[in-house]
Amino acid sequence: MDGKPAAVDRYGVMGYPVSHSRSPVIHRLFALQTGENLQYELLQVAPSKLETAIRQFQRTGGKGLNITLPHKSEVTRLVDDLSERANSSGAVNTLVFRDKEIFGDNTDGIGLMRDLVGNLGLELKDASILILGAGGATRGIIGPLLDAEPKSITIANRTLSRARVLAEHFSASGPVTACRFREVKPSSSFDLIINATSASAKGELPPYPESAVTDRTFCYDLSYGLSPTPFSSWAARKGAARSVMGWGMLVEQAAESFDLWRGVRPDTQKVLEQLEISA
Ligand code: NAP
Repeated sequence: MDGKPAAVDRYGVMGYPVSHSRSPVIHRLFALQTGENLQYELLQVAPSKLETAIRQFQRTGGKGLNITLPHKSEVTRLVDDLSERANSSGAVNTLVFRDKEIFGDNTDGIGLMRDLVGNLGLELKDASILILGAGGATRGIIGPLLDAEPKSITIANRTLSRARVLAEHFSASGPVTACRFREVKPSSSFDLIINATSASAKGELPPYPESAVTDRTFCYDLSYGLSPTPFSSWAARKGAARSVMGWGMLVEQAAESFDLWRGVRPDTQKVLEQLEISA
């Protein structure tokens, strides 16, 4: 013993902007719960500085990072090794620094599935699923949703070409089609509608397809807030069976990252209760 206190392992979330992120609170609650000695920082990094910031964090003893908007896709270029799920989604939200190597993974898809199936008890086999939005989050969740063998996945997006690219990319793995919001057939009825646009986060309410919601539709907004998001209020007004915000996914994807870094799985229900959020 040289009398020096043990260095604390450093982690953090890198984004731009990032001040709104709840990840530091969630990871501190995980650390307290599991007795892991770590610190977790908020790191605001502009796109032009991303590579330098990641290398510097690694060089100065950082053990791992969460990566958030707008860097999730760009960071795939900077890793030495990519998990299969990060490779198929083309996006990384978790970095693990191993010696001099960087491993990239994506825990968003598994986080959503743990919330939908594990916490909320949804049965997705043979379900008709509508995803609103065709950005990075949609890319990350389609593969895990297809693994649950739904009847169909329809991707509706404001910009049709982006939805088409995703439908083509995943159509070899399952029944995925693309359309515009207004082209969602009035006769379609969906078991699950996932809002993966960033409109809720911006307080906007796009012209979502009203006829898609029936009293047996479960609506899930990837966005979350302390009060209902525009999409979750809209879905409740349209008579959805249930309308839920993405807090559960946020905590579950964080737990998966924590497990990758520390080899310990936190109790996510306890943390959801501590955040005083009803999933
Ligand atoms: P992104 O790559 O920037 O994609 C944004 C998507 O939203 C695009 O499809 C875009 O349509 C659409 N959009 C934005 N504003 C719109 C509007 N006013 N009307 C209609 N469509 C609009 O973002 P992302 O990474 O996919 O993230 C999407 C959301 O998921 C964000 O709010 C993010 O915070 C949330 N998220 C939550 C979790 C969680 O753990 N709960 C995890 C990941 C992401 P166009 O293609 O037409 O531009």
